[in-house]
Amino acid sequence: EVKNPGAIESLFQRLIAQDRASLAKAITLVESTHPQRQKQAQLLLTKVLSHMREHDQHHLKGPRSFRIGLSGPPGAGKSTFIEVFGKHLTSIGHRVAVLAVDPSSSTTGGSLLGDKTRMPELSRDMSAYIRPSPSAGTLGGVTRTTNEAIVLCEGGGFDVILVETVGVGQSEFAVADMVDMFCLLIPPAGGDELQGIKKGIVEVADYVVVNKSDGDLVPAARRIQAEYTSALKFMRPRSKVWKPKVTRISSLDKSGIPELWETLKEFKNLTLAEGELTARREKQLNLWFRSHIRDHIMGRFERQPHIQRLLPEMENLVTRALVTPGLAADYMLEQFLGGSGDS
Ligand code: GDP
Repeated sequence: EVKNPGAIESLFQRLIAQDRASLAKAITLVESTHPQRQKQAQLLLTKVLSHMREHDQHHLKGPRSFRIGLSGPPGAGKSTFIEVFGKHLTSIGHRVAVLAVDPSSSTTGGSLLGDKTRMPELSRDMSAYIRPSPSAGTLGGVTRTTNEAIVLCEGGGFDVILVETVGVGQSEFAVADMVDMFCLLIPPAGGDELQGIKKGIVEVADYVVVNKSDGDLVPAARRIQAEYTSALKFMRPRSKVWKPKVTRISSLDKSGIPELWETLKEFKNLTLAEGELTARREKQLNLWFRSHIRDHIMGRFERQPHIQRLLPEMENLVTRALVTPGLAADYMLEQFLGGSGDS
């Protein structure tokens, strides 16, 4: 029932032959909400997943790709860092994909994460691929399509996948769940820095990177490094085998970048040897599965005419505190399940 499977097979072949235009086309396909294209996207992903499984089976050391999440407040220097870090990686033979997760970008109109102009050199590098955040959709939708884009990039031969997000909202937690290692990039700016960044996000960080440790900012960067180092001592680590580390770098001077990559590799090797990397990958697949279900059910719910008629009225009652959100939800679900005739 998938339309034009031949076209999908040929897209798959061009994708695994590392054709960049085909990768872009493939990601656009998974981002599509059109039911027929969604089916084509799933066929393509089936091919890519099985290709990657075979690929990794011959590679006894486990998954070849490394999925790294990078978050940090606006102005921390994420784009400057990704440019420098990405160039370092391609210079030593890696192929780097940069994906952005920013569900708010469509509404705030702020500068788009993954915007190529923020990383001019890397975007001209043939061993790198930069993809902005899908602008439309809920966090759930963006999460799902990012999971799928990661797999497509791996199919296209990219071995380091950087998933960038801003340090606001829930998107950082979503990103932490779709990567092998989660890094937090912070600036040394004065004030009570630990207050500025959500405590919860520090808890899921495997690595805290203090950027801008150069010139006059070095003492402040040292202070922040010490603060985070002691704060992390009191937090329950996410990993059983890895103690979160705090480092200082300068994206401007390009100092500390090769050492940072060594630490990331150390993390990957250790978690791989201890079976934790595989466990994280399994969890990623499971969350991807769940987000499909959630997306699909919400989509059906919101498209049902009966629900569409009732929803504004119920929202009005809820926001005026005349009905509890829980009761309103129960009522709507009863209407939905009764009305769809398949409960
Ligand atoms: P983003 O919003 O996190 O992507 O931050 P940007 O990469 O756009 O950087 C914000 C500002 O910080 C820019 O003016 C950069 O030039 C500056 N910046 C980035 N990295 C460094 C660094 O390592 N040292 C110094 N001194 N400035 C930096």
